[in-house]
Amino acid sequence: MKFGTKAIHAGLEPDSATGAIMTPIYQSSTYVQEAIGVNKGYAYSRTGNPTRAALEKSIAALENAKYGACFASGLAAIDCCIKMLKPGDEVISTNDLYGGSYRIFTTIFEQYGIQFHFVNMLNLENIEQKINANTKLIWIETPSNPMMNIIDIQAVSHLAKAHDIKLAIDNTFATPYLQQALDLGADIVIHSVTKYLGGHSDVVMGAMVVNDEDLAKEMYRIQNSSGAICGPFDAFLVLRGIKTLHLRMQRHCENGAKIAHFLKNHPKVDKVYWPGFEDHPNHQIAKKQMKGFGGMVSFSLRGNQLEDAKNLVSRTKIFALAESLGGVESLIGHPATMTHAAIPYEKRQESGVVDSLIRLSVGLEDAEDLIEDLEQALA
Ligand SMILES: *Cc1c(COP(=O)(O)O)cnc(C)c1O
Repeated sequence: MKFGTKAIHAGLEPDSATGAIMTPIYQSSTYVQEAIGVNKGYAYSRTGNPTRAALEKSIAALENAKYGACFASGLAAIDCCIKMLKPGDEVISTNDLYGGSYRIFTTIFEQYGIQFHFVNMLNLENIEQKINANTKLIWIETPSNPMMNIIDIQAVSHLAKAHDIKLAIDNTFATPYLQQALDLGADIVIHSVTKYLGGHSDVVMGAMVVNDEDLAKEMYRIQNSSGAICGPFDAFLVLRGIKTLHLRMQRHCENGAKIAHFLKNHPKVDKVYWPGFEDHPNHQIAKKQMKGFGGMVSFSLRGNQLEDAKNLVSRTKIFALAESLGGVESLIGHPATMTHAAIPYEKRQESGVVDSLIRLSVGLEDAEDLIEDLEQALA
């Protein structure tokens, strides 16, 4: 089945009780058993819920995965992934990653004896240098947030396999429409479903998908044991959102390209970070592993003044100043004080998150209006 067909049909079957074409919101905590241990597949909604199960199947299908699990947030999915490790294990993570991921790694899991190494993964040697017998996981975010660096998933996966290390990808920015990381060699894919998969800025949710049966058992064990599940109403909203994922992503890509080109030619703009530019350092890798370049665009201002960035983000009228991304509406953000404030100043500078850096989540409005909005704000 092709992607658009899967987005609309995967995981969904007419409701067995009524024939309802849309999976109902099974707002029930428990399920009546015919006799002790005899049930219709569901016993308690932390362990399994039919609305959530439909969504888990849908997201797994989109990622070409066998198993999926949904969580209360993207970070709850990340939490599940790292809980597969044990004290003494080591993780090599990209140094250019979502602030909340950095925070959970360093302020939660380091306390439990898991060690994280943050390296620039544009050079594979940086990964290789940190590999030792305790290395159990490599963590990638690509395209990265907010610098839009592209890490070569296949190349990293070869390295990981050679050392018997699992590879996890945070695929939030690309979505399975643009990038199918399991097919490229990853073992685990994580999503903040809050973003493009949900797509309408009305749900906070996370997901994890895997192909390996042992990993799946661990995933479901932790999902059930830690209990950070999503509710059935949220699952219903995301099932609805996913039906248009392919159409939304096409428009996100088109609008993203138009905005990136507009910014590149603007005299007040210094650098524009968007993997679709031929002179983007990782453009060839992006072309190889992605179907399009997405709707995320970052840029810095000439002079690199914090005040200029603050003024700009408060002057846009259609681009709303807000955290998050991936919804139908365009958002503007200032990583250094918002999404990436949890990352220490020095580390931020190293990875390019300078004071004037601005991140756009380009939505689905008419591109002409979006460009006009940026033009007046820059003026
Ligand atoms: C938002 C985000 C997360 C965290 O997801 P939540 O749903 O906010 O918990 C993780 N990774 C990336 C890349 C994100 O953008």
